Amino acid sequence: MKELVFATHNQHKINELTALFCELPIPLKSLDDFPPFPPDDEDEPSFELNAASKAVHSAKIIGRWCLADDSGLEVAALGGRPGIHSARYAADNILRIQRVLKELDGVPQERRQARFVSAMALASPEGDVIIKTGYCEGVIISEMRGSNGFGYDPIFFIPQMGKTMAELSLEQKNRISHRARSAQMIIPIIKSRI
Ligand code: IMP
Repeated sequence: MKELVFATHNQHKINELTALFCELPIPLKSLDDFPPFPPDDEDEPSFELNAASKAVHSAKIIGRWCLADDSGLEVAALGGRPGIHSARYAADNILRIQRVLKELDGVPQERRQARFVSAMALASPEGDVIIKTGYCEGVIISEMRGSNGFGYDPIFFIPQMGKTMAELSLEQKNRISHRARSAQMIIPIIKSRI
């Protein structure tokens, strides 16, 4: 492996992944560094299969090792929703947060457990793929707090930190997040292929 391509155009993910993988002695790129091509459908039934599909799709098209993260929020009291539908739960980010809060209306604090999930897939140009999944546990609070991060971060409270994910710096989030945990499992695998 001579370089690694993050199979995403999401600038928030690119920023987090660039920091998480900075110890690798190879160039880190994203799909923004390549001519545009049609995205993968992302219609698989799990985070893992969506991540694998995204990584393999990009790796085959651009002929480089690609890393895809498929991630989302699972809320226990909602039977795991929004889950794999996290990115499409409503038309924009505020509406997605409002939908989760509305669905949790009246649910007491002790039954608002949730977790972020990150399935990370590493695909070779030939289409071989390795997948690792990381989790971060928290609680959904009933108002938004903080302005860092992205997505559902402002309503995802981490009791051990006493803060929402959106109140953490990038460095703090990258120590405890679901994406940090999946990255920690993938990094040794990448190193063994450099
Ligand atoms: P993906 O691009 O298909 O993986 O969609 C991920 C979606 O899950 C994002 O659009 C966010 O709504 C949500 N999500 C994933 N990771 C995070 C995170 O670290 N913080 C907040 N929301 C996240």
